Amino acid sequence: MKILICDKTEKEAIEQMKKAGLEVDVRDDITPEELPNVLPAYDGMVVRSRTKVRQPLIDVCPNLKVIVRGGVGLDTIDADYAKSKGITVMNTPMASSASVAELTIGYMFALARSLFQATASMKSEKWEKKLFEGDEIGGKTLGLIGVGNIGKEVAKRAKALGMTVIAYDPYVKSVEGVRMISLDELLSQADYISLHLPKTKESADMIGKTQIAKMKTGVRIINCSRGGIIDEAALYEGLTNGKISGAALDVYATEPPADWKLAKLSNVIGSPHIGAATKEAQGRVGAEVAQKLIEFAKNFQPA
Ligand code: NAD
Repeated sequence: MKILICDKTEKEAIEQMKKAGLEVDVRDDITPEELPNVLPAYDGMVVRSRTKVRQPLIDVCPNLKVIVRGGVGLDTIDADYAKSKGITVMNTPMASSASVAELTIGYMFALARSLFQATASMKSEKWEKKLFEGDEIGGKTLGLIGVGNIGKEVAKRAKALGMTVIAYDPYVKSVEGVRMISLDELLSQADYISLHLPKTKESADMIGKTQIAKMKTGVRIINCSRGGIIDEAALYEGLTNGKISGAALDVYATEPPADWKLAKLSNVIGSPHIGAATKEAQGRVGAEVAQKLIEFAKNFQPA
């Protein structure tokens, strides 16, 4: 089986695939323009976030049998269309959960103690001790919107830190140690709100002006899920009118942001979509990609 690696993939994973007898070519800098000419010669492809697999590309690859995405979401692939053409589409849903959960917890501490602002102040040779009185996260209420793989990992850690964890997720009935409640209840009770759901038609802009108005004054918001679930204009307004005391954003409606004014606010901290960017998560992603392709190849019949 011939596999084209279209995005950066762990060396060990590539070695593992080769050892198992797969023919693997690495073109991890391949451009969208080159792909339609190169991909038709392959039975399978490996992508991360960079390479998008849309309908026109699928249409010129009648021999393609499998697409594996190293990552959680499948929003960079026209997965339903690919499946309708008999292509198997797989991802690595659990590999980065712990890393994203740790980033979320790190952000909660950073918001509670203004760590980034205090660091910036120190670097400008200021000793603004009085400015940085924060608060403890123990005893506070964390509201999780979406409590799947990552949400559950965040909940476990937050409970261990002494937080009360509440969650809204219409598709999950119960999670140990977490009180499942309506979105409106969550908005009015949470000191910290953290998003861990996919961006879908239903969830796009689901946190807007109306929802922010229902939040506690001084609430802190963390988004390490997908940009565009929080309406960025409404978030900006909440952060500048005193309703929201701080936000931590790993993801943005467009990446990089088309407009940097939100990221530049003094009460916003952020990162360039690095939730899964740890050695451990990347190692697990690579290993899972290799294992899934090797399993697939066992039943593969060349055309
Ligand atoms: P998951 O599928 O395990 O869990 C998502 C949960 O969201 C599910 O329980 C689902 O029922 C719930 N959900 C769906 N629609 C909802 C809605 N409208 N309201 C409330 N809940 C809803 O996914 P996961 O692995 O936990 O990932 C969560 C999010 O984190 C995804 O968007 C994923 O793309 C993102 N993610 C980001 C990074 C990063 O680098 N920042 C890395 C990995 C994953």
